[in-house]
Amino acid sequence: MSLILLSLFPPASQGQTDDASEKLAHDIFKQLIEINSTDSVGSVTAASEATAQRFRNAGYADSDMQILGPNDRKKNLVVRLRGSGKHKPLLLIGHLDVVEAKREDWTTDPFHFVEKDGFYYGRGTQDMKSGDAIMATTLIRFKKEGYIPDRDIILALTADEEGGKSNGVDWLLKNHRDLIDAEMVFNHDGGGILSDHGKPLMMTVDATEKLYADFQISATNPGGHSSIPRPDNAIYSLTNALARLERYQFAFELNEVTRAYYERMAKVETPERAGEIQGMLKTPPDSDAVARLSRDPIDNSTTHTTCVATRLSAGHANNALPQRAEANVNCRILPGHSAEEIRQELIKVFADPAVTVRYVDNSGNVFDQASDRKSFPPPPLRLDVLGPLEKITAEMWPGIPVIPDMATGASDGLYTMAAGLPTYQISGIAVDRDDIRAHGRDERLGIESFNKGVEFYYRFLRAVTSE
Ligand SMILES: [Zn+2]
Repeated sequence: MSLILLSLFPPASQGQTDDASEKLAHDIFKQLIEINSTDSVGSVTAASEATAQRFRNAGYADSDMQILGPNDRKKNLVVRLRGSGKHKPLLLIGHLDVVEAKREDWTTDPFHFVEKDGFYYGRGTQDMKSGDAIMATTLIRFKKEGYIPDRDIILALTADEEGGKSNGVDWLLKNHRDLIDAEMVFNHDGGGILSDHGKPLMMTVDATEKLYADFQISATNPGGHSSIPRPDNAIYSLTNALARLERYQFAFELNEVTRAYYERMAKVETPERAGEIQGMLKTPPDSDAVARLSRDPIDNSTTHTTCVATRLSAGHANNALPQRAEANVNCRILPGHSAEEIRQELIKVFADPAVTVRYVDNSGNVFDQASDRKSFPPPPLRLDVLGPLEKITAEMWPGIPVIPDMATGASDGLYTMAAGLPTYQISGIAVDRDDIRAHGRDERLGIESFNKGVEFYYRFLRAVTSE
């Protein structure tokens, strides 16, 4: 009898899901989804102000809250929970802006928080108003409980991660570094539980990420009448260049994080795949194993910089030689390399002076050169982070491994890493591997997944910030 009771009611020391916190998290989440914070017509400031009011209601002093930014629509919220000061502060970051969403593309109104079939629907449910609500709820819960962490915990909810000209993390680092200076940073915009039909597979922690870069590849030509073709032709120059790119493979490279990722994966994979991974991890790596693994798009992108043609346009009339041919090539660059380095490599790959390679920024402006900024090599995986993460994961999702990972996209962590702040993407949200809808239509998050994410973050953050 007692055994049955024990399994029905887990010991209280594990922490019961707190109903008031669950409701608060839901309410903040709903409110944020229903505030349009797109770059085109939305307001990040409105989302910052609404969240600040939640903190004020919970007893945060106005002196511990700032709403600030470069213009009226792009104001960020910075809140500080005072700790005992035993360690340097911990900074939590999350972006409040969302990708555009058109009503006609969606089944439901993307800016209406809809609860349906066990899911919350709305733009930002995955990326990442869920995380904003969870972090805010956690700090409010700490305040209500009178919890004093062993360091200040700063929360920065910010603008323009998805696009726009006023990236909040960048702006705060440049203009108010003192407000957000910290020993390390947790970004809720990544990591989390990867699941398959609701079954948790692994807890990932993103400790590094690739750098995003677009390049405009163009060929120009004097052109002329198509009845008397000349040997040089802008379309041929461009397509020959792209064909070289198709066959080109950037260098194989592992870093501290991807190496740790594969070491751990080798223990849970099929024997055949585990064998390939062992070969790849050798020094020097077994090049056959690398080649075989690289046929998988995810393994390939984890171990190489990738550049791929994504758009093409050329010519101006059916009966004229083309004067211009242009393609966009999108690159995801491994840590330790800059966009300018890759631009130079592309020029060598194309090996044609008639083909130019120019950098395109987020707003579509084109530059002759790219930035020398690198995605920084990953910080060491700190035991004071990994330890609590493994402990809480084992409590909440028994038996799944914690896997350090590299995000193949890019997030605001690029700015904090560039500023010398070790940054980890950590969350307790579970998303099915085939239900990743960030930036897509009918974005949604499981209600159960959200509630568990609320509880995880509370336990995890408390474990990291207590003696
Ligand atoms: Zn995001």
